Amino acid sequence: MAGVIRRLDETVVNRIAAGEVIQRPANGVKELIENCLDAKSTNIQVMVKEGGLKLLQIQDNGTGIRREDLEIVCERFTTSKLQTFDDLSEISTYGFRGEALASISHVAHVTITTKTAHAKCAYRATYSDGKLRGSPKACAGNQGTQILVEDLFYNVSTRRKALKSVSDEYSRIVEVVSRYAIHNSGKSFSVKKHGETAADVRTLPNASVVDNIRAVFGNAVSRELIEVGCEDPKLAFKMNGFISNANYSVKKCILILFINHRLVESSALKKSIETVYAAYLPKNTHPFLYLSLEIAPHNVDVNVHPTKYEVHFLHEDAIIESVQKHVEGKLLGSNSSRTFFTQTLLPGLSVSSGSDVKMSSVESSERVYAHQMVRTDCRVQKLDAFLLRPGPARTGPPDPEPARTGPPDPGSPQTGPGVDLDESDDAVLMEFLEEQEKDERDEAGGVHRKRPKKEQEEEEPMAALKRRVIRLSSIKELRAEIREKTHTGLQEMLQNHSFVGCVDPQWTLVQHQTKLYLLNSSRLSRELFYQILVYDFGNFGVLRLSTPAPLYDLAMLALDSEESGWTEEDGPKEGLAQYIVDFLKKKAEMLEDYFSMEIDQEGNLTGLPLLLEKFSPVMEGLPMFILRLATEVNWDDEKECFRDFCKECSAFYSIRKQFILQDEPEAEVNSWQWKVEHVIFKALRSLFSPPKSFSEDGSVLQIANLPDLYKVFERC
Ligand code: ADP
Ligand code: MG
Repeated sequence: MAGVIRRLDETVVNRIAAGEVIQRPANGVKELIENCLDAKSTNIQVMVKEGGLKLLQIQDNGTGIRREDLEIVCERFTTSKLQTFDDLSEISTYGFRGEALASISHVAHVTITTKTAHAKCAYRATYSDGKLRGSPKACAGNQGTQILVEDLFYNVSTRRKALKSVSDEYSRIVEVVSRYAIHNSGKSFSVKKHGETAADVRTLPNASVVDNIRAVFGNAVSRELIEVGCEDPKLAFKMNGFISNANYSVKKCILILFINHRLVESSALKKSIETVYAAYLPKNTHPFLYLSLEIAPHNVDVNVHPTKYEVHFLHEDAIIESVQKHVEGKLLGSNSSRTFFTQTLLPGLSVSSGSDVKMSSVESSERVYAHQMVRTDCRVQKLDAFLLRPGPARTGPPDPEPARTGPPDPGSPQTGPGVDLDESDDAVLMEFLEEQEKDERDEAGGVHRKRPKKEQEEEEPMAALKRRVIRLSSIKELRAEIREKTHTGLQEMLQNHSFVGCVDPQWTLVQHQTKLYLLNSSRLSRELFYQILVYDFGNFGVLRLSTPAPLYDLAMLALDSEESGWTEEDGPKEGLAQYIVDFLKKKAEMLEDYFSMEIDQEGNLTGLPLLLEKFSPVMEGLPMFILRLATEVNWDDEKECFRDFCKECSAFYSIRKQFILQDEPEAEVNSWQWKVEHVIFKALRSLFSPPKSFSEDGSVLQIANLPDLYKVFERC
């Protein structure tokens, strides 16, 4: 049985056609915003209820609609913008088909309130099915137009059902408004939910494009934008916009594309740009782009799709290729001139709590991809480690020549005078075992001093028998502080780094996996010595000075230096110096017992703690150290006293600029470099718990990532 063919009822035809133009609330918003812009508005406010399905209100301050036009404004094909077909090729306004308002009025209740500059008052008119209901009523109002759309799709139940999520519709509306806001910088936009006081997006009249991108997408992207712009008279187009650089990436590509000021989509352009970024961004991440293309109107066919979202244009491939080339050039240019040294955060190293240390054994079982492969292995020793570099006792040493006497660290089987050997009775052994057990627990918890297991087993028990156990709660607390602050990612990096070289006494380059880091040797060594002082408290060997150094002379030297900040008001230097000598002599017994710092009856300094084997501090720092011991250490509180002493002492021992003195013989230069590499950085591998602050304060800077460098080379 053949069906009967009937002419469709006109209102049904209109409703179907309307559904083509307005598929969802966001399409309506786009059309209405374009109308506002066509009417030269500079302030556009959007208000939305239930994702636009209940209510959409767009208020502008544009030219308004004349009273006599209100009769026909919602009929199809009425427009103030196009008169003949030829105009279509020269069109510069958004609307031209007179279809939007008509379409909306077929699927919703529309109320227009509008006032032109010349009219004495505003008029309000209501429409349904494209027809004016009743005559427009005079009312109060400012210049401009307010369009109210209520109960969208009330008469198209299938469409209504298809739009399930009110919040999804709302976010699409916010997206449209914010994109037009970015493109129309200089005009202010806002969008908010009905009943809310705060707008979800708001832009200001005097804001720049970047300001608006920041307002919508946040600081992270707005900081990393490169301005782009190119044109080609032959292809009759020009382009400008902002694109994210290689430092920024998102999970999903954001391409805000305007062609002739119309928000559109072009999958061809998106694809070609994504291929450019693929070489710069981490896998599965994407860029942000805002591009505005202006193409000679006669080359653009805006009429492909009723919603006008998809646009086709003449010379499409050539134009896309030209844009792609420009983007690539900009990106490469910005990549090579990136300032590495401002990057103080470590993207590669996550700050994790002290409890989850990544053991290197776990690491090694992980698969290594080709792009992660490196040619270095941190376990491989370099030849110069065996070339006997001067220990302090060996070369032309810094003046008061220190003689090595004690064991460098508790891991060594030698004994030192700072340690009382007679204590090795059963009780001490018990204590040691307890402490040892606790240390192991600490290690299981992933904390301090992860010495290679082998060393521990073979060497430590012997030495440890002679090691004093410290039961002072102050010291235990200081140790706990170190443990709590440990950055395990950084610790793992330091344990497995490959030493690259010293830039100067203060800066050292190391490699870890595919990344190159610049480390502040001063800060790292200072913290290292602090931790050694806290951990080996009471168990140091002695660096004995070949000639005793009178504390009085040292104090006088310090007071003479500018650094001391001495002024006449402080009283005569001689008196102060004598006071310092007397004061430190009173502390001599304690200093020797706990820190192996030896002061004799006559007030001479005879020994300093040996903190690391083959390492002695630069003696230029000794006078200030002595002065500061008397002035900067809080001697009244046990814990504060130990903390302050360790801080002052570690500052004295740390690698500093003064390490290279002017006119130093080359051998000496090599000497500090050798110490940094084979003493300090060796110790950083095993004896160090880097604090979390190092990842943020510029002590550790990531300056390059190998895969990124390869990418740059590939393109050369
Ligand atoms: P088009 O934009 O294609 O002309 P529309 O249906 O979107 O068709 O709008 C019909 C007409 O209504 C426009 O040509 C314009 O004259 C008038 N109009 C619509 N919105 C506004 C507005 N916000 N301010 C001033 N005039 C408007
Ligand atoms: Mg329009």
